[in-house]
Amino acid sequence: MDLGIAGKRALVCASSKGLGLGCARALAAEGVDLIMNARGADALEASAEQIRADFGVTVTTVAIDVTTADGQAAMLEAAGAADILVNNAGGPPPGMWTDWDRDDFIKALDANMLTPIALIKGLVPGMMERGWGRVVNITSQAVRAPIPVLGLSNAARTGLTGYVAGTSRQVAASGVTINNLLPGLHDTDRAASLDNTVVQNEGITIDEARARRQATIPVQRYGTIEEFGAACAFLCSQNAGFIVGQNWLLDGGATNLTM
Ligand code: NAP
Repeated sequence: MDLGIAGKRALVCASSKGLGLGCARALAAEGVDLIMNARGADALEASAEQIRADFGVTVTTVAIDVTTADGQAAMLEAAGAADILVNNAGGPPPGMWTDWDRDDFIKALDANMLTPIALIKGLVPGMMERGWGRVVNITSQAVRAPIPVLGLSNAARTGLTGYVAGTSRQVAASGVTINNLLPGLHDTDRAASLDNTVVQNEGITIDEARARRQATIPVQRYGTIEEFGAACAFLCSQNAGFIVGQNWLLDGGATNLTM
């Protein structure tokens, strides 16, 4: 299927690895030029170079922390008149509700709610003027069904979801769509680090921890970044113009919901 977005420009945040990289690669495969971001310059440049070699698109890199005001300003400058925005950042650490204080919540809200909102505010007005745009926010399965040890994530991402629900309907008439992708367990460094938390908490091996977590997924495996990226590219396509303010759960059936 031709997604009809060759020649567009996309800012893909937090994209040197994992789900962000999956989105960047899937968009590049459609001929989209990229502005990629991560804090670590080496991995970012390596992933960008691989994408240039594989897909022949233009890739600009911005090695900076997306959750800071300076980071957002630098990314918006590099993005210019971008047509597509994929919001992403690292997730908050796991823990116990009794341990989190105000600063922990402010950090989580900054990273996983206020950062995507700042970038939406930075780029969507230009998309509206030009009459076309796509925003995809990477949130989490935790928005549909809470993960108790990830209370900071549950809270911040649900706040973003409420913002998107209203804002997406305010901008839709101008040809700009905003939607969320909700990952369940995917095979990335983040998933490996949460596997390690299970190892430490329960004194089991990494293989046991992974097998136990995979057993909770009807598909019986973790998702891949390629599967995730393909869904992102579709949401950014011409074909997705009637999909507004939605929350797509990509979790192998793990969240036990009727709808
Ligand atoms: P990952 O494999 O750890 O990759 C994270 C990427 O984001 C890396 O490129 C990292 O590079 C970059 N990054 C992290 N913090 C950043 C920051 N402050 N500024 C700029 N770049 C940053 O993570 P992932 O599994 O792809 O997860 C992506 C998001 O989805 C996270 O918010 C995660 O909580 C959420 N999620 C993941 C899963 C899963 O199973 N994988 C499930 C539910 C939700 P640098 O470290 O060099 O900055």
